[in-house]
Amino acid sequence: MEISVDRDRCLGAGMCALTAPEVFDQDEQEGRVLLLDARPPRERHAAVRIAAGVCPASVITVAPRGSSRAD
Ligand code: SF4
Repeated sequence: MEISVDRDRCLGAGMCALTAPEVFDQDEQEGRVLLLDARPPRERHAAVRIAAGVCPASVITVAPRGSSRAD
């Protein structure tokens, strides 16, 4: 999978960092999301999908990596 985030629309709620702390963090100034790993290993995919689902601003986008593989 490949993750992208829209930091401009992030509300700093921190749900992503709580749900998948290996993949998301928050900056110290505004609390906006920091993407630590845009291509996390498979064992983290479930947590990333949950984080994307609970983000109140819906700014986390998860896409298949590359064009043919859905990982
Ligand atoms: S859960 Fe969404 S709004 Fe909250 S810090 Fe993460 S990306 Fe930003």
